Parts: sequence; structure tokens; C-alpha cells
Amino acid sequence: MKIVIIGAGPAGVSVAETLRAHDKQSELVMLSAEPYPPYSPPAMVDHFLTGSNAHLWRDAEWPEQTGVDYRNGVEVTAIQPGAHAIQLKDGSKLDYDRLVLATGGSLYAPLKGADLSGIYNFKSLSAAEALVKKIKSGEAASAIVVGAGFIGMEIALLLRELGMAVTQIEMLDQVMSAMLDPETAGVALAMLGKRGVDVRLNTKASAFMGDGQAKSVQLESGEVLQADVLIAATGIKPNLKLLDGSGIDHKWGITVDEHLRTNTADIFAAGDAVETTDRLTGETYVHAIFPNAIEQGRIVGLNLAGIETIYEGADRMNSLKHLGLPIMAVGLKSGDEVLQTRQNGHMRTIYLQDNRVVGFQLVGDIKTAGILRALMNRGENIQPYKDRLLNPNFGQGMLVWESITPYA
Ligand SMILES: Cc1cc2nc3c(=O)[nH]c(=O)nc-3n(C[C@H](O)[C@H](O)[C@H](O)COP(=O)(O)OP(=O)(O)OC[C@H]3O[C@@H](n4cnc5c(N)ncnc54)[C@H](O)[C@@H]3O)c2cc1C
Repeated sequence: MKIVIIGAGPAGVSVAETLRAHDKQSELVMLSAEPYPPYSPPAMVDHFLTGSNAHLWRDAEWPEQTGVDYRNGVEVTAIQPGAHAIQLKDGSKLDYDRLVLATGGSLYAPLKGADLSGIYNFKSLSAAEALVKKIKSGEAASAIVVGAGFIGMEIALLLRELGMAVTQIEMLDQVMSAMLDPETAGVALAMLGKRGVDVRLNTKASAFMGDGQAKSVQLESGEVLQADVLIAATGIKPNLKLLDGSGIDHKWGITVDEHLRTNTADIFAAGDAVETTDRLTGETYVHAIFPNAIEQGRIVGLNLAGIETIYEGADRMNSLKHLGLPIMAVGLKSGDEVLQTRQNGHMRTIYLQDNRVVGFQLVGDIKTAGILRALMNRGENIQPYKDRLLNPNFGQGMLVWESITPYA
């Protein structure tokens, strides 16, 4: 059987490695539009800070060791499910018996002027390299980052480390509003401030401006901000262009069933390109985080190997690694009861609903994240040990511990 995986990010790699663990025979082809070995985007900041190549998450020997025919610099432009073939940008075609869509996402910038040249982003290694090259050229001393979600915050911190003056604008009244509760966001904001990032909340950008080349950002207030480098960190959008005309169902992301199969025969999908169900709330949306991409890739790999496996649903979580003090947020940020403690700059907040953990936010000491997540996912009634839940050593030695997937 010939299996083709489009995309060499965490989801694609997880598909390949899971499949190979159970199926040594099938021919496995992996295609990446980018010119690198498979890499992990969360490790990019470390790479640019330390020069470490750990971001090349799988090394040059990986394809041969895994038995993968890895082809980089190959972009897929269309899919022809009827012919079991894909169309490549160079005009050639490739056939498949099974196809995996692991195409991830790209920058989503719903702003006037977002298509001007000179607007940088950090969504892929190619994009990040272009930004860091510009900064290291010595031509740039100041930057504006539009957006204070977690990628925007990573960029702002990296740029400060590289010696830039950084202004970050955010239309909402807190940073990382998708994951952090207002109090934890306040801690993160203070830490950004200490690191020299000038964050302007409640500040909405309405357009990038320039004559062909972006030079400034216009705010909704009418104010115009200028800097040497302009960066959009306004969101991500699944890479779906190649689905045009294929009949593969999608809304914002690709639609899949509980085995992560698309509506089209022999085509699966995993990672940031896919809409899945939130295991806590049952809502369906794109859950664009690393652990979900890895787990979805694992489920697709098992199903391709003939081991029927159902996806249990996506996790809602995120972490900030470069603030100097780790922050981890998992699950919901509200409930019918809130447990909280603050000590020596560390903060722990746990959200309960009917005596069950539905979310938590940890600042500083995050070692109980694994057990809290296990309790949350199992829907355990925590009443018997509620008074100990905030203890930083809670659960040591308990059997329900479950590790949080490392990000890189
Ligand atoms: C700066 C940054 C920091 C992050 N930090 C964290 C973090 O701390 N924790 C966390 O959980 N998540 C983090 N994430 C999110 C995480 O990286 C993603 O959830 C994860 O990479 C998704 O994996 P994926 O394989 O679905 O997609 P991607 O990693 O986006 O990989 C998709 C690949 O498909 C290729 N591709 C796309 N279209 C085509 C095509 N038509 N033909 C051929 N190839 C194609 C792309 O070039 C790309 O290499 C971060 C993301 C970024 C950008």
C-alpha cells in the first residue's frame, strides 16, 4: 500500500512514526512545501535564541531510519480523489492508496494592507528565518507586533532578547485571552513589561500602511505607529487551498469523523488543519496546539495500520515558556467554584464545576499539571481531597498521574 502524507510538522511526523511502529511494509511518502527536515514550530524561539538545532525535531537520518521517502520543497496544489492522485506545483502528479492531510495553518491577518510586502510573521520556519534575518542585518532597531496571543508573545520576547525595541498592540483588554483568565493574564503582562515589551491593550490595528512596502500600522483611534519591522501575529488559518475542487468537506478547518477520516474515501487528516471536538465541551473547532497535533497524528497512524481507533477529543491548553517563569493553562477558565493560592510569585487557580476539575492555570511551579489534567479528563469527583488540591506536591505517588506531552 502507498501512503502519502502532505505536511512534515508534528502531525505528519506523528502519523509516520505511529504507522511505522505497526506497519513496516507500506510505502510511505512525506511531502513538505518547506526546504527543511521535519521540524517543531514551538522550538523555533529556542533555535533563534541559542542557535540550537533542536528545532529540527527529527534529524537528517530520520527519513531513512523511519523508512520514509521524504521530499522537501514539494508543494501539493490539488487533490483528485477520484483518480487517487495529487497534483504537485511542478506540474507532476503522484498517486496514492491512502492520503493524509497534515498541512497545518498559515498566518491569518484580517487587516487592510496585510498583503503588503514587509509584513513579517512567525508561523513557519521560513517566515521566522526571514524575520530574524532582517533583524540581524542591523537595519532594524524597533518592531511592532500586532496581536498578543501566545505566538505574538513569543515573538515579542524573542525580539527583546535580540535587542529590539518592541511595541505590542492588542485589541482586547488582556494578553492571551483565548487561554488565560484575567488574573493570570495580568501576571503574564507584568512579566512582559519587566522584559521591556511595551504592551498596549485595548488598541485595535485597522490597517498596515505603505506604498507597496508596509511602513506603519494605523490604529482604529486614527493614530499611526511606525517601526522598522512590522509583524502580524493575528491568528492562524488552516492551509486548505489544495482542497479546492476536491470535494473534501471543510468549514474553517477540514471536517473529520471520530476516526479522523474525511468525507472522501481513503483520505485522513490531522493537526492544525482539522476541526475536532473539544473533549471537555463537545464544541467543534480547530484546536491548534502541539499535543493535539501529535495525538491526532497517532490516531490516524493507528487507523492506517488497520488498528481501528477513535479520537477521544482535543485538549484545550497552552503554556508560555519564555517569560522567565512558566505559565500553564488547561481547560476552561470558569466554573461554579474557584480555588486559588498565591505564594512567592507563584499562583495556582483551579476551576471546578460540580466538584470536578474543568480547568486550571498555574504560574511558576507547574509540576501538578499532569495530575490535575488527569483528574479533569477523567471527570473525577475531587470532594474527598479538595482541601489538598492546591498543594504544590498534591498527588505525588498517586496512580492517576498522566504526563503533559513535551512541546519540543
Ligand atoms: C512560534 C510558535 C510557537 C508555538 N508554541 C506552541 C507551544 O508552546 N505549545 C503548543 O502546544 N503549540 C505551540 N504552537 C503550535 C504548534 O506548533 C502547532 O499546533 C503544530 O505545529 C501543528 O502541527 P501540524 O503538523 O498540524 O502543522 P504545522 O506544524 O503547521 O506543519 C504543517 C506542514 O505542512 C506543510 N504544508 C502545508 N501545505 C502544504 C502543501 N500544500 N504541500 C506540501 N506541504 C504543505 C507546511 O509547510 C508545514 O511544514 C506554536 C506554533 C508557533 C508557530
